[in-house]
Amino acid sequence: MGRKLLWALLVAGLGLTSGARADDYPTHPITIIVPFAAGGPSDAMARVLAERMRISLGQPLVVENVTGAGGSIGVARAVQSPPDGYTISFGHLGTHVANGAVYKLKYDLVADIEPVVLLPSNPMIVVSKNAVPATSLKELIEWLKSRPSPPTAGTAGAGSGSHIAGVYFESVSGIKLQYVPYRGTAPALNDLIAGQIDLIVDQTSNSIAQVRAGTIRAYAITDSKRLASAPGIPTAEEAGLKGFNMTLWSGLWVPKGTPKEIVAKLNAAAVEALNDPAVRKQLEGQGLEMTPKDQLTPEALGARQKAEIAKWWPIIKAANIKVD
Ligand code: ASP
Repeated sequence: MGRKLLWALLVAGLGLTSGARADDYPTHPITIIVPFAAGGPSDAMARVLAERMRISLGQPLVVENVTGAGGSIGVARAVQSPPDGYTISFGHLGTHVANGAVYKLKYDLVADIEPVVLLPSNPMIVVSKNAVPATSLKELIEWLKSRPSPPTAGTAGAGSGSHIAGVYFESVSGIKLQYVPYRGTAPALNDLIAGQIDLIVDQTSNSIAQVRAGTIRAYAITDSKRLASAPGIPTAEEAGLKGFNMTLWSGLWVPKGTPKEIVAKLNAAAVEALNDPAVRKQLEGQGLEMTPKDQLTPEALGARQKAEIAKWWPIIKAANIKVD
């Protein structure tokens, strides 16, 4: 018997109604499952939010990093948890869109989860180790093409944001990359700084501090306008590469069947966090763009996810991304 069915029977047997459970929710700590390594961009955003949401909800939100398989192991863990508001799935364009086209998932990314809130987004950034002898995106592409074997690109696993962005970069520039999967882009970035891999097409929020510190080199961002927090980095189009646009947005979800009142409480706590000037300052400093106020509803996240599935699945399937 599935865990969900067992849970439903248990709840029915105890005569609990979802309303009764929702009234005093939360009565104990809540787990946020981050499907990538600690110290990476998803983990960093989740921890900032968890800290502030604790104040609104009156219970701690504990981040658990459940990594592997492009984030799909962590999402599966969250989807299979009881729909009681005590397990939240943190994810993004990779885990909650791309993974569905890359893996044979045991869960349905739309039917088995309930959206809570659309979180800040950021463009991807092309970064290389300092030893690469290029000073512009054009020179980087020339250098990548001149290599005797495909240069190495770190990713957070097949179907992660950095992987999809790498495949996209290949298709718009005509280069060929060899992917090196990690459990998140935090360990990938460490290897880039150490010169173990050649590049990452990374979330800006992950790389920007290292770019500023000069330990890695940035070439372009995948946005139509420059970042307010890093105006020296050109857009891909300004750097001579057309059609390389990608915004990596994140979100929170809960298992399907979670009472509406609980989803509403979680949404309200997340919105309060995102409106807090101290939180905004922290996230904007990482190069993140805050969610527009009219997009902070669960419905807005549901609509965004569905629209992105319609956009990305054909691209990913056409790119023939395989997982062994
Ligand atoms: N968001 C991932 C992480 O936190 C990276 C990715 O999807 O590329 O590591």
